[in-house]
Amino acid sequence: MLRMRCSLYGIVLILLLLVGCAPDPKPSAPTPNSASPTVALEPAPKDTLQVVFFDVGQGDSALVVFPNGKTMLIDGGETDKGRRLVQKLGQIGVKQIDWLVATHPHSDHIGGLIQVLKSLPVGEVWDIAMAYESPIYRDFLLAVRNARTPDGKRPVFRKVRAGLTLTPARGVRVEALAPREPLLVGTRSDPNNNSLVFRIDAPGGSFLFTGDVEREGRQRLYAVRARLQADVLKVSHHGAANGTDKVFLGRVNPRVAVISVGAGNRYGHPHRETLALLQGMRVYRTDWHGDIVMRLGADKKLQITSTRRAPDSAAAAMQPSKPRIAGVVIGNRNSKVYHTPDCPRLPKPENRVRFRSAQEAERAGYRPHACVIGE
Ligand SMILES: [Zn+2]
Ligand SMILES: [Zn+2]
Repeated sequence: MLRMRCSLYGIVLILLLLVGCAPDPKPSAPTPNSASPTVALEPAPKDTLQVVFFDVGQGDSALVVFPNGKTMLIDGGETDKGRRLVQKLGQIGVKQIDWLVATHPHSDHIGGLIQVLKSLPVGEVWDIAMAYESPIYRDFLLAVRNARTPDGKRPVFRKVRAGLTLTPARGVRVEALAPREPLLVGTRSDPNNNSLVFRIDAPGGSFLFTGDVEREGRQRLYAVRARLQADVLKVSHHGAANGTDKVFLGRVNPRVAVISVGAGNRYGHPHRETLALLQGMRVYRTDWHGDIVMRLGADKKLQITSTRRAPDSAAAAMQPSKPRIAGVVIGNRNSKVYHTPDCPRLPKPENRVRFRSAQEAERAGYRPHACVIGE
């Protein structure tokens, strides 16, 4: 009798744990009616190229499993997303990361990679290795130093520049298109503009990863006539208006666009202007679709599924987020940059100028700080 009661308790406990592990309910979404079937994350079938764009909230993270089983992890979201990311890699059956790629040193890209470096063997680390001071980038470099390859050595740390190519599996090619020496300086965001931009070409499809590259970085790609055309575009900078323009989309000419963005983010990503430019393409958003899984199998057809049912198809996916910065902003009269009132990098009190709104600051010739438009 006692034993039976214990096992009953056990079952109830397991049920409670299972409920506790269920994904958070998502913000109110319109009626589910998406063309994309929902799936659970699972290992890629043999001889298939699989790309998963993870839902890491406001940030970027994507995993490529090549047809020979080798793996490339591109960015890892913020630091607090690292544990969940490692769990998801486990669900996909990933036992090691052959290439761990940091597109640029902002925390919403490298933060979660720290936990990955602590949890899994890593073969090589790709980094743009620009001079950048931040506690998270320091932690990342420390985690790289302490990481181990599958055979217990230190991973290769590769400073990536345009021209680097890799053949990770037969018939598959990876090519870095940016950054180039000398790195760009004095742009709105040098880390964003020096993002690692690279393409993956496989039989039946091609992917373009853009990090958070902005206008100046794109212009350099045009200047060197980089080969940009790709079937799938990872939209730059979480769908911010400075991440995409008409000329760029004309050159990439994608069939499918993926926006990696957090629900209800304070920056209003993705911006209305970006979504307007993406009209007519299949748009996937991690805030709507969850983890987005793309597969290229032997039939060379691109198959797309997601872990969450998106709201009523394309129309809803094209809805911009509402920016959360309404009201007063604080300008710096020297740099002509404006901040949200709770920004940790507010100017010195004597340099502050108060504006009633972001619009008012912009009319006065001020530019937004990263706290306003995101990293
Ligand atoms: Zn960034
Ligand atoms: Zn970012």
